[in-house]
Amino acid sequence: MARWYRRAIRRGSQAGPSAPVLVPTARLSFQAARSRGRRGADPATVASVAIEFANVTKRYPDGTVAVEDLSLTIEDGTITVLVGPSGCGKTTTLRMINRMVEPTSGTVLLDGRDVREADPPALRRGIGYVIQNAGLFPHRTVLDNVATVPLLSGWGRRRARERAAELLRTVGLPAELGRRYPAQLSGGQQQRVGVARALAADSPVLLMDEPFSAVDPIVREGLQDELLRLQSRLGKTIVFVTHDVDEAVRLGDRVAVLRVGGRLAQYGTPAEVLRHPVDDFVASLVGQDRGYRGLSFVDADGIELKDIASIGLGERLAGATSDWLLVVNSAGRPRGWLPPESIVDGEVREGDLVANGSLYRGGDPVRGALDAALSSPSGIGVVVADDGRVIGGVTARQLLDVIENRT
Ligand code: ADP
Ligand code: MG
Repeated sequence: MARWYRRAIRRGSQAGPSAPVLVPTARLSFQAARSRGRRGADPATVASVAIEFANVTKRYPDGTVAVEDLSLTIEDGTITVLVGPSGCGKTTTLRMINRMVEPTSGTVLLDGRDVREADPPALRRGIGYVIQNAGLFPHRTVLDNVATVPLLSGWGRRRARERAAELLRTVGLPAELGRRYPAQLSGGQQQRVGVARALAADSPVLLMDEPFSAVDPIVREGLQDELLRLQSRLGKTIVFVTHDVDEAVRLGDRVAVLRVGGRLAQYGTPAEVLRHPVDDFVASLVGQDRGYRGLSFVDADGIELKDIASIGLGERLAGATSDWLLVVNSAGRPRGWLPPESIVDGEVREGDLVANGSLYRGGDPVRGALDAALSSPSGIGVVVADDGRVIGGVTARQLLDVIENRT
C-alpha cells in the first residue's frame, strides 16, 4: 500500500474526521519526502493503486440520484475514462474517490481500503485533482500555485519552489512562466500548470475532471499527447472525466460509459465499446463515426508499401512527368509534393511545393495511415520511418481492404 495513503488512514483512525491534522501530517510528509530524496528516485514515480466502487449510490439532499448502484473496478496504473452526457454523474463519481462527496450507500475502496477510514483533508491533499479551467489561484504566481501542496505538506518554501520548477519542466513549460500570474498564460498553458500542481501532490492517483474541455481542439490534442507521454513514464492510476467520446477513446485504457442517473452502461476497452456497443444508448453516444474511430485500434501490419517517385530539393528534373513527385530534403525527409503540371525542365523549387498532408509512421494504428492517404494532395499517404525518412506510400484503397478484413 502506498505510504501516503497508510498515513492518511492512520491519521483518520487516530484523530477522527474533525480533529485538526495539518501539523502532524505535514511533518510526516516532509520526512517521507526527504527519505525519497536520498534514494534519488523521482518522487512522482510511486506505486499505483486500484480503485473500486462497490454498489455505490449518491442521492443529494434534494432527492437527485446522481449515481445509482455503481460497481466498477479501476485497475491500477491505467487511465480509466468516465464518459457520458452532461448530468450523468461523472463529477459526483470522481469526487467520491477523494471524499469531496460522500456516498449515500456502498463503498469506495482505494488500494483495498475503505476511503471512509482515511482522514478527508489528508486524503484530498494526497490525491492529485485537476479541473476545467485549471482552477488556479489568480493572485499567486504560477510557481507558487504549483508549490501549494508541497507547502501545505510542510516542505520549506525553497524546496517547494524547486519542486514546482521541476514540475513545470515536466509538463513542458519554460521556467520563466513560473514568475507570471495565471491570467498571463494561454488556456492551454494554464491547464498544464493545473496538471503540474496535481502532480505536486506526489500521488499514485490523479483525478481529472474535464481538464481539457475549455481549450480549443488543436491545443487539446497537444495536452492529450502530453498526458499520454507523462503517463507512460509515471504509470499512475488516472481517472479522467469527459463528455467527449474522441477524447475518451484516445486516452482511455478502459472506458466507462455512464447514462443519466449515474448507471454504468458499458465498461471496456475503447475498441470493445466502439465495435460492440451494448445497446442503443452507447451506440448513439459513440456515434456514427465509430467505424472510423475504431481504426485507432487496428494495426497496419502487412500492408505493402508502394514506391513513391521522389526527388531532392534543388535537384534538376530530366523532363515532364504525369505523376506527382514527392520532394525530400538531404536527410530523405518529405518536404512536399510537386503537382504534375508544375513539373517541367529545371530546378525543383520550394515555391512550387504543395504541403504533404499528414505523415504516417509505420507501426502506428491504421487510422493514421488513412488520414495520411486522405490528406495527401497526390492521394498517396507518405509513410516515414522513426527517423522521419520516407520509406514508401499507401493509398486509401489499400487501407479499405485491410479495414474490411479486420474490423
Ligand atoms: P456530470 O459531471 O456528469 O455532468 P454531476 O455529477 O455533476 O454530473 O451531476 C449529476 C446529477 O446530480 C445532476 O443531475 C446534477 O444536477 C446533480 N447534482 C450535482 N451536484 C449536486 C448537488 N450538490 N446537489 C444536488 N444535485 C446535484
Ligand atoms: Mg461534471
